[in-house]
Amino acid sequence: GKRILHAKHYGIRRDQLHSGALKVCDRLQDAGYEAYIVGGAVRDLLLGKSPKDFDVATSATPEQVRHVFHRSRIIGRRFRIVHVPFYDRGGEEIIEVTTFRGSADSPTDASGRIIRDNVYGTLEEDASRRDFTVNALYYDPNSDEIIDFHHGAEDLEKQQLVMIGDPVKRYHEDPVRMLRATRLSAKLGLQIASDTAKPIKEHAALLENIPSARLFDEMMKLLLSGKAWDCLQALRAYGLHRPLFPLLDKLMSQKETTAFLKQALLNTDQRLADDKPVSAGFLFAALLWHEVEANWQKKIAAGEHKVPALVEAMNDVEAKVTKRLAIPNRYSAAMKEIWLLQPRFEMRAGQKPFRLIEQPRFRAAYDFLLLRAECGLVEKELADWWTQFQACDDSTREVLISDAI
Ligand code: ATP
Ligand code: MG
Repeated sequence: GKRILHAKHYGIRRDQLHSGALKVCDRLQDAGYEAYIVGGAVRDLLLGKSPKDFDVATSATPEQVRHVFHRSRIIGRRFRIVHVPFYDRGGEEIIEVTTFRGSADSPTDASGRIIRDNVYGTLEEDASRRDFTVNALYYDPNSDEIIDFHHGAEDLEKQQLVMIGDPVKRYHEDPVRMLRATRLSAKLGLQIASDTAKPIKEHAALLENIPSARLFDEMMKLLLSGKAWDCLQALRAYGLHRPLFPLLDKLMSQKETTAFLKQALLNTDQRLADDKPVSAGFLFAALLWHEVEANWQKKIAAGEHKVPALVEAMNDVEAKVTKRLAIPNRYSAAMKEIWLLQPRFEMRAGQKPFRLIEQPRFRAAYDFLLLRAECGLVEKELADWWTQFQACDDSTREVLISDAI
């Protein structure tokens, strides 16, 4: 049943909201439509966290929204939404506006996956089409009320992640919901309710139908959730890694590779907690390094030269992985540069070290070397040498070089 909660009882105030999100709600309501802040933002506010993005749900159709905001644009085909840009504190911020989805059946493929979801409906119908109860809370900043059709606030208090409706049907409609369950549970510290969790293992293979670009996006969200290590462990526990990143089995079954992966992901989690930037290229370099190195050593053992062997090993691994995860070029380029610089750290004679530190990707490659050293994949002496080399002046550098030979 529908419940109306008073936002102020939950410590939520209008001034915690992004000004763009407020403007979108105000102007849509002024134009005679219903408009609410919905989804992750309301959930995060109830948890006392500051939301990273704001979504608005409205009774206005995408065309009507476009009419109210002249600079907005309609995006998506499978699921049409409107992006309304705002220029706040120097940067562009986008508010995503979605029209209430209806409960009428949307077209599906043979596996039950919804292939287009552009049938519009009422607020209540929209609530039933959302994934988890905690994600189906609607906040009206003008009346200061939260509308809750599915006990979302109660589940949040019980720290439970509960699928709305029949979990099996909902996973068939969109298998990515299984990935969302593991991510949101790890990120928010919620327990996946047993009915919601139980079908996941058995339905993991449904992810094979999902385009590799969407899988990549979801993988990025897992890796940047701030709980990357927990997420990957959960992924494996539910067997969800197989259609996405099957290498995880090999990586997590050996002590040394697990230690490296864990260290890389915990470093990432820490950087995010400290509000520092995280490089996707670096992350994928770490995730795939073991596979590249094993291939590389095999080729060297077969008599190939070091550098061409590495290039081939990199390309082989990349080709294999991108069948599942469409890693965009800008990331894979950075990833490969980080790998390619690794053997060059071992060349410490003459002008080579001076040239290496001038490389644009030196910093990332050096951080990668430190990570390898931390996990015993390379001599600690080598990493320490490069730490010293960077810190000192040119004449001391010459001394370091002659000492290293
Ligand atoms: P995050 O903190 O990662 O942004 P979020 O829950 O806001 O989490 P979004 O991807 O921004 O995630 O989605 C916004 C809202 O849209 C969700 O809260 C949920 O209500 C709905 N939603 C997103 N993806 C799905 C899905 N696959 N199926 C049903 N509803 C979804
Ligand atoms: Mg969101």
